[in-house]
Amino acid sequence: MTENNNGFKRRNFIKILGLAGGFVTLGGAAGAGLATGKNKDSYTGFGRTEYGEDQFFNRNPFVVDKPTYEKVGTPRRISYVENLFKRNGEMYRLLYPRNKEDVPWSFEQGVETLPEPLKSFYTEHPGALSEFKKSMEKGKEQRSNWHQYENKFLLADAWSNAHASPLHGKGSFPHAPEESPEISDFQGVKDVKLTFKSNRHASDLIKKIAYSFGASLVGIARIKEEWVNQGYMRGVGKTDFEVPEHWKYAIVIAVPHEWDSLYANPTYGTSYDAYSKLRFFAGKLEVFIKEIGYPARSHVPPTSYELTLPPVAIDAGLGEQGRHTVLITPELGANTRLAAVTTNMPLEPDKPIDIGINDFCSKCKICAEECSGGAISFDNKPEKVIRGYKRWHIDEDKCFTVWNSVATSHARGCRVCLAVCPYSRKNNWIHNIAREVDPRDPSGLFSTALLAMQKKFFKYHGGQEYLPPPDGTNETFNDAPGWLKTEEWFDI
Ligand code: SF4
Ligand code: SF4
Repeated sequence: MTENNNGFKRRNFIKILGLAGGFVTLGGAAGAGLATGKNKDSYTGFGRTEYGEDQFFNRNPFVVDKPTYEKVGTPRRISYVENLFKRNGEMYRLLYPRNKEDVPWSFEQGVETLPEPLKSFYTEHPGALSEFKKSMEKGKEQRSNWHQYENKFLLADAWSNAHASPLHGKGSFPHAPEESPEISDFQGVKDVKLTFKSNRHASDLIKKIAYSFGASLVGIARIKEEWVNQGYMRGVGKTDFEVPEHWKYAIVIAVPHEWDSLYANPTYGTSYDAYSKLRFFAGKLEVFIKEIGYPARSHVPPTSYELTLPPVAIDAGLGEQGRHTVLITPELGANTRLAAVTTNMPLEPDKPIDIGINDFCSKCKICAEECSGGAISFDNKPEKVIRGYKRWHIDEDKCFTVWNSVATSHARGCRVCLAVCPYSRKNNWIHNIAREVDPRDPSGLFSTALLAMQKKFFKYHGGQEYLPPPDGTNETFNDAPGWLKTEEWFDI
C-alpha cells in the first residue's frame, strides 16, 4: 500500500486500523447483530413494532439543550424568492408565459427589466442569473440528447415518473390549501370534546400514528419564527405574513430513498420515491389530527412548504446538518427526506442531539470532492453566515445546473452527495458500531480511522464523471440494481 489520494500514510493507517479494530471488537461484543444489515427492516428507521420500542439508535446519551447550529446574528425568515424552486418557477413563467397575451421575458432584456423581487434578488446575486441561464441551456441540450439514453434508462425513468405522478395536478395528495391557514387548516376539524391526559400522551400517540402510516423517523419541534418562510403562502399567494398563531408545533417525519437506487445516483436515482411517500404519510397525518379536533397543515415535497425543514428537524432531535446541507440522522444518514405537519395540538417537543457531525464533516469533504457542479463548500468549518446562522454553504444554482445536465427525461436530478456520504449506509453491523462508537470518542481518532477506511474501500469517481458525455461518462456511485437495468429485461 502506498499513500492514498489524501496522503494518508501506511503507518498511520495501520495504527488507526488497530484502534478501529479494538473498537469494532468491543462494539461487536456489545451485541451488534451481523444479521441486522441483511434484514429488510433495516431499510427504514425505528418504530416498527406496536409500541415503537425497537429503535436501533439510542438518542438519549446525545441529547443536548441547544441545537448544534450556531446563531451569530439577527436571524430572518427566508423569502420565497430565495428559494431556488420558487424563484425558478417565477422565471419559467416569465420566459414561457401561460397567458398568451403576456410578452415573454428574455435574458437579452437584462436584469433591469425583471419584475420585483426578482430584479433585486438577481442584482444582489449576479452569478445566480448566469447560472440559471446555463442550467436552461444544459436542460435544452440534455432534452435533445435524451434519445441516446432513453432505452438505457427506460426503467429508471418509468419508476421515477410513477413516483412523481401523485405530486402534480388536481388529483395530488395532500390537496393544496385553497385558503389562508386560518381557514384551510381548520377545514374538516372535528368537534372533539376529549382532552389528552398530558402533552407526553399526545406526542407518543402522534408518533405511533405517523409510524403506522409508514414514517421511518418522527420528531416534534416547537416552531421558531425564523424557520417559517416569507413572501408566499399556499392558498393566499405572494404575500408577507405573520406566523399563524396556531402553528405552535411541527411534527417532522422522515423517510429514506430506496437504498440500492440511491447508491446508483445520479442516473438510476430519483427524489420522487421518498417525496411521494412523504406526501401520503404527512397528508394522512394532517387528516388524523383534524379528526381528533385540532387544526393541521402538511408541508410536503417537492415545493409545498411554508417551513424550512432541515433546521426544524434538527430542533426535533432527528439529526444534524451535514456539509452538503442535507439533514444527517443516525439511522439513515443523509438518506433522509423530510415533511412536516404544523398544528396547535398540545405536544411535548423533543430535544436536539449532538452526534459530532460538524467535526466529522470538517475532516471528510467527500461530498464536495464528488459534486459535479462544484456546488459544495470545501471550508474547514461551517463559516458562512446565512440569515443569522453559521452553516455550511451550498451553491444551489450550480447544483441546479447539474440537475438539468444529467441524463434523465424528467427532474430526476443528482443526489450524488447523499449517496457518497459515509453516514448513508444501510443498517448493517459495522455501521451500527461506527455510529455508536464515533459520537462517544472525544479524541476524534475513530472518525479519522473511519474516514480512512471509507476512502480506501469505497470507489469514488470524481465529480465530472457523473455527467453525460462529453463532460463525463454517465458514471454512477455504485452499480445500478438489476431491477432498474433496462438491458436485463428488454432487448436493447
Ligand atoms: S445534488 Fe449533486 S450537484 Fe447538487 S450538491 Fe449534491 S452532488 Fe452537487
Ligand atoms: S460526505 Fe462527508 S463532508 Fe459531506 S456531509 Fe457526508 S460526512 Fe459530511
